[in-house]
Amino acid sequence: MKIFTFDTTLRDGTQGESISFSVEDKLIIAQKLDELGIDYIEGGWPGSNPKDKEFFARATELKLQHAKLTAFGATRFARNPVEDDRNVRALVEAGTPVVSIFGKTWDLHVKRALGISEDENLTLISETVQYLRDHGKEVVYDAEHFFDGYTANPDYALRTLEAAHKAGAGVLCLCDTNGGTITGRLVEMVGEVRRRFDGVIGIHTHNDSDLAVANSIAAVEAGATHVQGCMNGYGERCGNANLASIIANLELKLGHTTIGPERLTSLTSMCRFLAELANLPLRNDQAFVGKSAFAHKGGVHVSAVLKDSATYEHIAPEKVGNRQRVLVSDLSGRGNIMYKLKQHGLADRLGEDSRRELLERIKQMEYEGYELEAAEGTFELLVREALHPGLHFFDVESYEVSTRAAGNAESHSTATVTLKAQDGVHSATATGNGPFHALHVCLRKCLSKLYPQITEVRLTDYKVRVLDSNKGTAANVRVLIEWSDHKRSWSTVGVSDNVIEASWKALVDAIRLELMRLTEKDDSIEKAVEDYCWGV
Ligand SMILES: [Zn+2]
Repeated sequence: MKIFTFDTTLRDGTQGESISFSVEDKLIIAQKLDELGIDYIEGGWPGSNPKDKEFFARATELKLQHAKLTAFGATRFARNPVEDDRNVRALVEAGTPVVSIFGKTWDLHVKRALGISEDENLTLISETVQYLRDHGKEVVYDAEHFFDGYTANPDYALRTLEAAHKAGAGVLCLCDTNGGTITGRLVEMVGEVRRRFDGVIGIHTHNDSDLAVANSIAAVEAGATHVQGCMNGYGERCGNANLASIIANLELKLGHTTIGPERLTSLTSMCRFLAELANLPLRNDQAFVGKSAFAHKGGVHVSAVLKDSATYEHIAPEKVGNRQRVLVSDLSGRGNIMYKLKQHGLADRLGEDSRRELLERIKQMEYEGYELEAAEGTFELLVREALHPGLHFFDVESYEVSTRAAGNAESHSTATVTLKAQDGVHSATATGNGPFHALHVCLRKCLSKLYPQITEVRLTDYKVRVLDSNKGTAANVRVLIEWSDHKRSWSTVGVSDNVIEASWKALVDAIRLELMRLTEKDDSIEKAVEDYCWGV
């Protein structure tokens, strides 16, 4: 069955504490949501702020192929005739084919928040819906606090829906505004509404009880055919229902049609793209689209998924555009390492002893606090070194770095690096914005004399974590650095009780890897790594 998807990332999603999108961001996101095949895109509340007003003005430039842009607002104020209500007029002026408005369902809100009679509230609903219909709008009626309202006073809650329905609302959307409804109760109430009303019933849930996705799916099973949510579950408080998970479940588990199987393969990239614009990390354990959603670490799991991925995967990751990952760690058996080596096309090129040695080295590093599963670059370097023991570019003779600040002036860091290579000793000095930056610039400067072909690799992320003291002997700081060459990205890791030293180790590994890649053009490695690491 066709289930309509209604994305409110640009409206309800932006009410999340750490979410802020510029008008440009919002326009790009709307375009992407359209490409993904979303049916309705709620762009904002034009009556509430100038940014949303500007968005709708500029949205006329958008070339949406499929989605209907939707403006959000409320029923008219009690004191205003509908045609004079500023907010309702802003909805008409937004120029969208669809308008969603919320009205009060819960008698408590009618009395306390609006301070009007129950009948007056019904008039607000029907007049506003009617006015918008008269202006040619498709109306999605959001019954705010529907489930709480129905629990308190079912007759009145149903009368509010009836007012919207009779006035011509195309969708009666039941909202779990406070996110506190338990699934079983929600299903009963959706079922009751389904029996009483024809037309489209919608569902809009919040995640305060960690049930938003489950409640949305259950509502569809109880007869809703319009689902609202936000990509990545962004939204007020604990967020809205995660529309990405809802879509994947409806398509893959229940056989419904939302965006269709072909566009479903863009789901992971959509969520990653959105997280990037929101400047928030995409949670690794996010269902369906997270980096760890199909990652296998335990030895038993790994050996089983290598035989048949269905043993530990609920769906084929490719269906949502994600991928299987097999992690290297101290938990792993030989199966993990072999998987990696096969993946890199290298298994046959390493002797039995070298394989065992490599595994031992990895286990020791993990014990010291290295996190290789997050540092494919360091892992690749280990494999390359095992394959080419004769390839050695340089030894570090010494490095030093100092930072100086005088008064209120900005501090300056200066680094000196001395390297020993086949042709002798090389030294360089450089300055930078901080000690690590100075070391980075200095090491590249020193090496550029030896290896002028060294490319400018970009540092994209730098993370420091203080390790649990029982994790390793002297190790207590782990530095993870992410690099990118515009085509792919990879991470290297360093561990030490000194943050500069840990950073230096991760830096030297990254440079060695870069030189390895330049010297040993090995297509199988290049391809495998490109495939293995996440794209930039
Ligand atoms: Zn909401």
